[in-house]
Amino acid sequence: MTSTVPPRTTREWQAADAAHFLHPFTDFQSLAKKGSRIITKADNIYLTDSDGHRILDAMSGLWCVNVGYGQQALIDAATRQLKELPFYNAFFQTATPPAIELAELLSEVTPPQFSRVFFSGSGSEGNDTVVRMVRRYWDILGHPQRSVIISRNNAYHGSTMAGASLGGMSGMHAQGGLPIPGIEHIEQPYWFANGGDLGRDEFGRVAAGWLEQKILAVGPDKVAAFIGEPVQGAGGVIVPPDTYWPEIQRICDKYGVLLVSDEVICGFGRTGHWFGCERFGTRPDLMTFAKGVTSGYVPLGGVMVGDRIAKVLIEQGGEFEHGYTYSGHPVSCAVALANIRLIQELKLVERVRDDTGPYLAQVYTQLADHPLVAEAQTCGLMGALLLARRDAKGGRARPFAPEVGIGMVCRGHCFANGLIMRAVGDRMIIAPPLVMTRAQIDEMAALIRRCLDLTLADCHRNGWL
Ligand code: PMP
Repeated sequence: MTSTVPPRTTREWQAADAAHFLHPFTDFQSLAKKGSRIITKADNIYLTDSDGHRILDAMSGLWCVNVGYGQQALIDAATRQLKELPFYNAFFQTATPPAIELAELLSEVTPPQFSRVFFSGSGSEGNDTVVRMVRRYWDILGHPQRSVIISRNNAYHGSTMAGASLGGMSGMHAQGGLPIPGIEHIEQPYWFANGGDLGRDEFGRVAAGWLEQKILAVGPDKVAAFIGEPVQGAGGVIVPPDTYWPEIQRICDKYGVLLVSDEVICGFGRTGHWFGCERFGTRPDLMTFAKGVTSGYVPLGGVMVGDRIAKVLIEQGGEFEHGYTYSGHPVSCAVALANIRLIQELKLVERVRDDTGPYLAQVYTQLADHPLVAEAQTCGLMGALLLARRDAKGGRARPFAPEVGIGMVCRGHCFANGLIMRAVGDRMIIAPPLVMTRAQIDEMAALIRRCLDLTLADCHRNGWL
């Protein structure tokens, strides 16, 4: 019998971690003092830590474990492929069966304009590919000056030089001399923060209009593409008004600007559609994906290349001087195939669209009554609660003083109460596995309510209201 007792104590793990492991997006010194939480096992939507605590993972790892943990079909696919052929590249006029089969399946499940894919190892690499590919496209067509890519403040497109430049996170730009040249940003479609007195729909059109203003300011003959996440994920699950994306599409069409949908979070069922662009009604030219393509079991990313672009690259482009060792990694592709087939078999996209997504929306409407919640939003199986101060009658909300760090206070309660929820500023966000049942949504909602109550008690005790 194999032992389930971890081979080291939590303290021992933490000491070794602090001594050797530099974590992503982490203040190294403060984590070393505090000690990491060590996650040792997972099943379905639950994690276990090194002290044996059970935790409901309402973030699907990092927005990726769409089919939940412990799916035997994915484990078998990886094992089989590791034995058969653990690696071969796609550089030198070679290919492997899983990569070819996955390319075929991706062109089936993505919108009709996509029949080709360029593989990467991650979402960041996918977006680096986007930058090089759109510039190459315009170059081949004899418009090398069309190189500017427009993105949005508070967008997240990865952490490589190009990914972080496309992203609109000021903290990231402040480190390492970013953004790289030729990237412009417009304001995000965040109604609660930027909507002023405008109605939601009207604000959506106004926010899309900022793209047109930027195109005109830069010069339409210099703009290569616009990139956006259908729903901003890491920015705080900001669901745009329904009027936003159709207007963005109209503006891109008007100026011949390529539209890139970053589907790294929204892809593979998260919004109740296969891809977020289908939920919001756009026809992107390129689509970045990662995370949910393998449910995070192994790394894989890529870019779906629309036929309009593929035709130019193939027929007029010659060699495209770009690629990664792991472009089309056979084990990753084998797992992705099993993952996508499982999503189809379990009808997870339909389930989120018709059942669990609407149910989560209903549950979030109830959570919106909590005295700390100023706004509750969902889209498929993603949700956000904006924490703010409301007066005694539950009237207009005012933000907490930034030094309170209300999101982190609430997140601390979640951690201590067996729930993984993420804090982005004052927004508490979730993106649970798509296999989640209604009963598990109820279980999660009860935990959320308990953590909100504990946070409210802190507010009273500390005079934060
Ligand atoms: N795009 C979006 C929308 C993302 O959310 C992320 C990761 N959270 C990325 C790109 C980058 O993906 P990766 O971390 O796999 O490089």
